[in-house]
Amino acid sequence: QSQELSQARIDYHAALLALQEHGTRMVCTGKMHTDRICRFDYLCYCTEAEEFVFFHSNSSFMLPNLGPRRFQPALLDLSSVEDHNTQYFNFLELPAAALKFMPKPVFVPDVTLILNRFNPDNLMHVFHDDLLPIFYTMRQYSDLDDEARLVFMEGWGEGAHFDLYRLLSSKQPLLKEQLRNFGKLMCFTKSYVGLSKMTTWYQYGFVQPQGPKANILVSGNEIRQFASSLMEKLNITTRGGEESAAEEKDEYFVVFSRSINRLILNEAELILALVQEFQMRAVTVSLEEQNFPRIVKVISGASILVSMHGAQLVSSLFLPRGAVVVELFPYAVNPEQYTPYKTLTSLPGMDLQYVAWRNMVEENSVAYPERPWEQGGIAHLDKEEQDHILASKEVPRHLCCRNPEWLYRIYQDTIVDIPSLLEAIRAIVKTRPNLKKAKPASTVHPGRVREPQCQTSVQATNEAKLTVSWQIPWNLKYLKVREVKYEVWIQEQGENTYMPYILPHQNYTFSENIKPFTTYLVWVRCIFNKNLLGPFADVLMCRT
Ligand code: UDP
Repeated sequence: QSQELSQARIDYHAALLALQEHGTRMVCTGKMHTDRICRFDYLCYCTEAEEFVFFHSNSSFMLPNLGPRRFQPALLDLSSVEDHNTQYFNFLELPAAALKFMPKPVFVPDVTLILNRFNPDNLMHVFHDDLLPIFYTMRQYSDLDDEARLVFMEGWGEGAHFDLYRLLSSKQPLLKEQLRNFGKLMCFTKSYVGLSKMTTWYQYGFVQPQGPKANILVSGNEIRQFASSLMEKLNITTRGGEESAAEEKDEYFVVFSRSINRLILNEAELILALVQEFQMRAVTVSLEEQNFPRIVKVISGASILVSMHGAQLVSSLFLPRGAVVVELFPYAVNPEQYTPYKTLTSLPGMDLQYVAWRNMVEENSVAYPERPWEQGGIAHLDKEEQDHILASKEVPRHLCCRNPEWLYRIYQDTIVDIPSLLEAIRAIVKTRPNLKKAKPASTVHPGRVREPQCQTSVQATNEAKLTVSWQIPWNLKYLKVREVKYEVWIQEQGENTYMPYILPHQNYTFSENIKPFTTYLVWVRCIFNKNLLGPFADVLMCRT
């Protein structure tokens, strides 16, 4: 396997000399361990000790040079999950002179991205924690190109979706366990360690109950660019552009079913009802029955996706704009508290509609108290605790990941009450989903308004006028914008409230609430299409 790393491509002697002379070199971005990614020359890994090694020499450097703060708690997060104490990265230090007494290093010539996958057996985790962050970390550093090598250090086997990770680069990803095969000491010629968290939208509830991340930095555009890139690599073409009349009529909804647990018990009845309701044909898929590329192909042309809450719903990111996601929740599970897919579908620019339905009828659910705890069994608990869970009508807010009441409820099977589901869908989906009409909305923001000015006049002892005028933002003359408006804020100096005005033209004379011999602070900004706000121009000081 060391052949695979093609030692021939590098001059072994030169590499060894460089390592001995220069040692390891590190420069990182990020102020905190949670937002740090580090780039290394000659970072090494000792497979026996299972430790990364930084070799100090006269010309090595380490930025940030944190001293012992490097262990408080770590240099960086190796997975995209924020500050998880099982996912920290650090290295041991040695003088480069120690190399003389160590096993001969094996050099990895590829530019390498070193990271932890968080939970490679769960599709939501695969996409949210790994694939998207890897994809965009690779776009952040241009030498992490299609030839880059991915190294997964979390210590798991390939997992159920390894083929998806293979799509990210042309080189086979390496697992921690495989590193031993290459030798006792591996040195990565050029490597990046850590993942960008910029694309993540959900926190799983390790320190506070799960929910959307506080400051989401990704929009539908980046999710869709990632999805198209993956689809291209899977050779999946979407039917865009000129559709034939036949294709146009061939709308369908998808039921993504789970066949092992959390079942829909009346799936056939549900499908019949939805066919009736939408006048579309039905397609069912499941991870157990179709391969993933097939499922992506089906979903990328679907008008509606219906599924029980669960990781398979992350596949919503392959839906066309304008489509509808219907997420079904078992009895006693409050949809508002478990929103990874709602948050995904609601990202600005995803242009999906989202409907949550919840089973409110206890008799329509089948629970499995005798199963192992991780599949929701409660037989191992005290009688009192069991009774408490059985009597509860809603799982209270809780932390991840082993709350028995949550697991008991989420692994129930459900008979879907059709009338209440149709009602829930009709309440949200007012018009038939129309994929053809759904075009991406413009996201071009206005520039600052230019040359803002004010003129004032005093009419009488209690009457004054304030005229504000400005020029259009510089970028407007190159744009076709449906609606251009301006917002003006007027604040009397010293007061802490202001009056906002929305105006259609480039000037306006204010006379109401304007006092003589008073100084006003005036801010002006441009707004495109009601919600694309521009920046305020420099504040104007206007004395009447
Ligand atoms: N899974 C599935 N069918 C099933 C049960 C699970 O496809 O009947 C998949 C699920 O989509 C996820 C993985 O198996 O990718 C783990 O499922 P789990 O129930 O543990 O997680 P959840 O879906 O609740 O996130």
